[in-house]
Amino acid sequence: MAGAGDPSTVALPIKGACHCGAVTFEMSVQPRHAVACNCSICRSLGTVWGHGGPGTIVISAEPDATIRYSRGERQLAFHTCKICGSTTHWEAIAGDAKGRMAVNLCLAPPGTIEAIGLRHFDGAETWSFLD
Ligand SMILES: [Zn+2]
Repeated sequence: MAGAGDPSTVALPIKGACHCGAVTFEMSVQPRHAVACNCSICRSLGTVWGHGGPGTIVISAEPDATIRYSRGERQLAFHTCKICGSTTHWEAIAGDAKGRMAVNLCLAPPGTIEAIGLRHFDGAETWSFLD
């Protein structure tokens, strides 16, 4: 029997949606961890990420449904719903990570983050896990 805090499996696909439902996602592979990052962007957005390789995440939205924000050298584009303000996902738009994406697991059903297991990532300084 798994103890409290041990990661377990969740039903796939992992589905999520912004608050108003204009942007939805489906993740076909369970991420290894749910990741809370302390970099300046993630702290301001208040997100918990589930990372996926190319082809494992499908975003459904009208083409102009999100505001796209990109800054700094990591070349990620963060998408936020224009209507309700929920940050739904990011995608790597250039560089080695191009094609990688992550979805905001705060928008998945309650309990998803706990089931996957939350880890804290030091994106602000060491670029490694703190736990
Ligand atoms: Zn929305």
